[in-house]
Amino acid sequence: MKGPGRSGLTLDEKLIFEHSDPGRRGYSLPPLDVPVASLPPELTREEVADFPELSEVDVVRHFTRLSAWNYGVDSGFYPLGSCTMKYNPKVNESAARLPGFSEIHPLCPENLAQGSLELMFRLQEALGEIAGFPAVTLQPAAGAHGELTGMLIIRAHHEAHGNPRRKVLIPDTAHGTNPATAALCGYDVVPVSSDGILTAAAVAERMDEDVAALMVTNPNTLGLFESEIRKICDIVHERGGLVYCDGANLNALLGIARPGDMGIDVMHFNLHKTFSTPHGGGGPGSGPVGVTGELARYLPRPVVVREKDVYRLDYDRPASIGRLRSFHGNFGILVRAWAYIRTLGGEGLRLASEMAVLNANYIRSRLEGTYHLPYEKRSLHEVVFSDRDLEGDCHTLDLAKRLIDFGYHPPTVYFPLVVKGAIMIEPTETESKETLDEFCEAMLTIADESRNDPDRLKNAPVRTRLRRLDETGAARNPRLKWER
Ligand SMILES: *Cc1c(COP(=O)(O)O)cnc(C)c1O
Repeated sequence: MKGPGRSGLTLDEKLIFEHSDPGRRGYSLPPLDVPVASLPPELTREEVADFPELSEVDVVRHFTRLSAWNYGVDSGFYPLGSCTMKYNPKVNESAARLPGFSEIHPLCPENLAQGSLELMFRLQEALGEIAGFPAVTLQPAAGAHGELTGMLIIRAHHEAHGNPRRKVLIPDTAHGTNPATAALCGYDVVPVSSDGILTAAAVAERMDEDVAALMVTNPNTLGLFESEIRKICDIVHERGGLVYCDGANLNALLGIARPGDMGIDVMHFNLHKTFSTPHGGGGPGSGPVGVTGELARYLPRPVVVREKDVYRLDYDRPASIGRLRSFHGNFGILVRAWAYIRTLGGEGLRLASEMAVLNANYIRSRLEGTYHLPYEKRSLHEVVFSDRDLEGDCHTLDLAKRLIDFGYHPPTVYFPLVVKGAIMIEPTETESKETLDEFCEAMLTIADESRNDPDRLKNAPVRTRLRRLDETGAARNPRLKWER
């Protein structure tokens, strides 16, 4: 990509990030015709900040160009396991942008905010019905924040019974945020080994009166259903413990099975995975938490309640763990979730889960035999392979980079940790058979290449603007500001 561009720059140089032309401005103001106001010196800078100097069109083109370099669900297949990167219907975006929802002030008095409060109340009820919990809070701003909320509730429950207890059991197939949350709430993490599925026997072995809770991800991070969950809950309950379910992966269960019915006491949802809202890049998200009737008194304050036909915020909750989020959570995401649930309805939600599971199993059946499947048990909404059968000293990272050349966002790699060289694929319900077939063809071609032309994988990606990046360096020493 050579050739002279603006200011004698080659196209390559133009494509870099830093731009500035001294003296160029993005505005023009009429001559000053009012007296100059002087600011107190403590409010002014000593030196003019060294910002890039650009016109409006330079800035618009810069960001538009960068946005087109990005890859998202709206540009192609995005099979990132454990993240549910599904296509989200645009009608939910329109709903979230309705002025009555998007422009309401968070301090608006309750009598003028009845529509928004009603939406929150109905969403609480809908989520409760979907997952089998009588009470739900919408405050948490993300899945991990929901975990914090849930574990603080569990701690409050034990404290009310005289002893917060010391330990939390976490199986090796749990999401990494689970042990982090338990530690943040002051608990010692006790790992429990599983062989893909957590057994009641393994839980019974570790369970005692000092265990506050078991935190279990279901379906777990291998995409497998924890089939002994009912018995496991009984074992934990018998010794006075509670069971926390990481419900971020509810995409496999909607309308089919309810964690509340399995004996779970507390669970968070990831609205930004299961119930619409485009995500990635760090937010915003929403992680509501559902609890049993017994734990409802500890929910964060305030709770939206209905009295006759009037909705209001109830602050009078003496046992509450307190407020977890300013104002009312990420409200725009609540609107999208409500629109999603109402447009699909009960049958549609169930169909979405069935299609998500079918799609994952379709990919599994096309790739098994070529890619090593570390666990034989039937997959739900995602399938985990390993790089064991790639040849030519090629590994998961090489496969991921080569997939970029084929136009795909790579799947989740090297997670879950219990699988060496894990390749975790979650197609979601919104992909067509054609897309899945093309993706499988690319995966099969790459396996062939590892046999016949391994350097192709090792050198990938070759079709991107930049080749293999120093990802660790980028995470450890990010360059986040403009540099001349
Ligand atoms: C994504 C995810 C989380 C964390 O959710 P965030 O919204 O990113 O904080 C927790 N558990 C599981 C299983 C997940 O997939």
